[in-house]
Amino acid sequence: MKTPDQYIESLRKLNLEVYLLGERVKNPVDHPIIRPSLNSVAMTFQLAHESEHKALMTTTSHLSGRTINRFTAIHQSSQDLVNKVKMQRLLGQKTASCFQRCVGMDAMNALYSTTFETDEKHGTPYHRRFMDFLQRVQEEDLVVDGAMTDVKGDRSLRPVQQADPDLFLRVVERRKDGVVVRGAKSHQTGMVNSQEVIVMPTMALREDEKDYAISFAVPTDSKGLFFIYGRQSCDTRKLEGSTLDVGNHQFGGHEVLAIFDDVFVPWDRVFLCGETDFVGTLVERFAGYHRQSYGGCKVGVGDVLIGAASLAAEYNGAAKASHIADKLIEMVHLNETLYSCGLACSSEGHPTRAGNFEIDMLLANVCKQNVTRFPYEIARLAEDIAGGLMVTMPSEKDLRSERTGPFVEKYLKGVASVPTEHRMRVLRLIENLTLGTAAVGYRTESMHGAGPPQAQRIMIRRQADLEAKKGLAKKIAGIG
Ligand code: SF4
Ligand code: FE
Repeated sequence: MKTPDQYIESLRKLNLEVYLLGERVKNPVDHPIIRPSLNSVAMTFQLAHESEHKALMTTTSHLSGRTINRFTAIHQSSQDLVNKVKMQRLLGQKTASCFQRCVGMDAMNALYSTTFETDEKHGTPYHRRFMDFLQRVQEEDLVVDGAMTDVKGDRSLRPVQQADPDLFLRVVERRKDGVVVRGAKSHQTGMVNSQEVIVMPTMALREDEKDYAISFAVPTDSKGLFFIYGRQSCDTRKLEGSTLDVGNHQFGGHEVLAIFDDVFVPWDRVFLCGETDFVGTLVERFAGYHRQSYGGCKVGVGDVLIGAASLAAEYNGAAKASHIADKLIEMVHLNETLYSCGLACSSEGHPTRAGNFEIDMLLANVCKQNVTRFPYEIARLAEDIAGGLMVTMPSEKDLRSERTGPFVEKYLKGVASVPTEHRMRVLRLIENLTLGTAAVGYRTESMHGAGPPQAQRIMIRRQADLEAKKGLAKKIAGIG
């Protein structure tokens, strides 16, 4: 397993094409806007080497029998699924942001079973190819991104009906040695901090959409692949050199628009090509695993937010008010409900035909549906407790200024024994989580990441087995 330093060094060797604020970034590793997101991923390496966290952060490879980072593992039991969620909560607590590495783990677990079943039916060589890729990922402890979401253009039209056929990523050329792909993937979490990316189709496809039924892995510095870095609210505060105003100056997440401008993929890296009948399965499984993931990561970030709200109340002397205590209880209740769903869909896991473990789909979708709601309520309560100062407070520069500093110090004081700066720091952290750079991960991503609410409702409807429930009611009611 790599150390954080080895991981960072390996990123320096990549020749990534990244654009941020209209300019090419020469050195993404040390860029002040990007670096906090890299630090979050580095934490997945660091904790794997700490004895107290090893049990959650590492596992045994079913391929080599060696100890590997859990982020590169194929789940072998329900307990593995449970440990995955616990690991994600831990990392959410340590980074208070999106640590990005789950997407690849979820993509690999979805591909593991889907390639196996595709080969069974079609006699294709995908599973073996994927296993070779997986072995390298485990041996080199690679960070793998998972790219699913196409830009999709006009939502009322199928991929082949779009005015521009590239709005869904597709094969534009089939060669003897591989395929050439073109398209774009949006909201790509952590891609600039990854060495590899697994690409998957965005939705179930029809027979005549074979060109869009493509899954593969390529290095992130492949020719023709480049990234346009997504803006986050308050992102340029990171350029000001202030740690206080950023709220969380060490960690963050990132998303990019990834452009595949005629990227060549050799056949040994293609894991699905034209088998439209397995696209729905792949999409559903990836989404299922990632919906489970949110029952861990968002809970860990929620822990930090609840802690921050509690500190804010303590720092201004409101901690003993009964309504504050009640709001904190409500936040904990909501947060632990999310965790319960993450654990439940994991412990109810089952083996696939390939042998790896999959979550209970209904419960994973219920988990994510709750995630589209509860973090918003937790954030609302945190803002309620924090008070308006969270968004009207002067800057760190004003605190440090000779003229204004003494007055900021004096008039922003809460409880006399607490330094004003501590009060400001905790309010900025709440701002960061609810309105700033981390709000991408805690709020909007809670809504749309791993699919928007309606996607879960479709799955819940499909898995609900209403016929069986009607049967139960008939029996009890004495209806023949
Ligand atoms: Fe992992 Fe959560 Fe980020 Fe998805 S949103 S990559 S599950 S930390
Ligand atoms: Fe996500």
